[in-house]
Amino acid sequence: MKVLACDGIDPAAVRLIREAGHDVVEAKGLSTQDLVIALKGVHGLLVRSATKVTADVVAAASELRVVVRAGTGLDNVDQAAAEARGVLVRNTPNANTLSVAELTFAMLLALERHIAEAAADLREGRWEKSRYAGRELHGRTLGVIGFGRIGREVALRARAFGMPVLAHDPRVQSAPAGFDWVDMTDRDSVLGGCDVLTLHVPLTDDTRHSIGAREFSLMKPGAVLVNASRGGVVDEAALQAALESGRLRAAAVDVFEKEPAPADHPLLKLPNVLPLPHLGAATAEAQQRAGTDAAEQLLLALSSLSQRP
Ligand code: NAD
Repeated sequence: MKVLACDGIDPAAVRLIREAGHDVVEAKGLSTQDLVIALKGVHGLLVRSATKVTADVVAAASELRVVVRAGTGLDNVDQAAAEARGVLVRNTPNANTLSVAELTFAMLLALERHIAEAAADLREGRWEKSRYAGRELHGRTLGVIGFGRIGREVALRARAFGMPVLAHDPRVQSAPAGFDWVDMTDRDSVLGGCDVLTLHVPLTDDTRHSIGAREFSLMKPGAVLVNASRGGVVDEAALQAALESGRLRAAAVDVFEKEPAPADHPLLKLPNVLPLPHLGAATAEAQQRAGTDAAEQLLLALSSLSQRP
């Protein structure tokens, strides 16, 4: 069968699919129009984040049977349109977990020890030792909203740093096995009880702008926020106001409501924000895992299709 692999899917994934006897065409940076042309006769499509599989693309790709996104979430695939046409849609939810959990702590440590600013100063010849006194994490309470795969890995790392953990997740009422040291509680208790709030929820109708002015007003003055989930979960205007007023001391933000974040985005101008260009899954290991998982899912789907009468 014919497979289109977009967005620089890991070479090991492409190799796996070719070894299974399929014909793989690789492509990068296709416009919607070129994507539709490239999908002629294609049964399986692999994408990362850049390629947008819209309803129009799905409607035009008459032979397409399966779309796999190498990554968590399906933000760039119109799942409803695809499934309505009988196209299977899959993703690789486990591939990025460790990388995002590690980045969450990388951001938190960088924020609390002023690592990016101190390094930038030193590169410009300024030895600013006293200006960058920071804070330890030990003994400070971490609040985790969303206690799924990433939330739990973050909690494990918090434990190693000596941080008590409060967590809220409507689907996790009591601490899962192995996490009896986590205090699973209601959302407002997490917001009011933590020194550091970290978000690990998907972007849904329920979570969109679910962290806004009300939530910041419940947090301890001087608390900090880390967001490596999705930009839309946080009301960015409310975050800006909370940071400007000093209600929140600082924030580390890996994800923005609109990406790429425009250069004049107000959060990029604030000195107490550590902004990153959505680097959560940007590790060699996560990309390799995502590619291999995606290839395996694609092969499974294609083989089940070829067995259908
Ligand atoms: P997951 O599905 O394992 O966990 C998400 C958890 O959030 C679930 O347990 C769910 O019950 C919970 N949840 C849903 N709505 C909630 C709410 N309103 N309040 C509290 N909890 C709620 O997903 P995961 O693998 O842990 O990933 C979490 C999110 O991280 C993803 O959805 C994605 O948005 C984000 N992510 C970001 C990057 C990055 O590059 N920064 C990479 C991968 C994933």
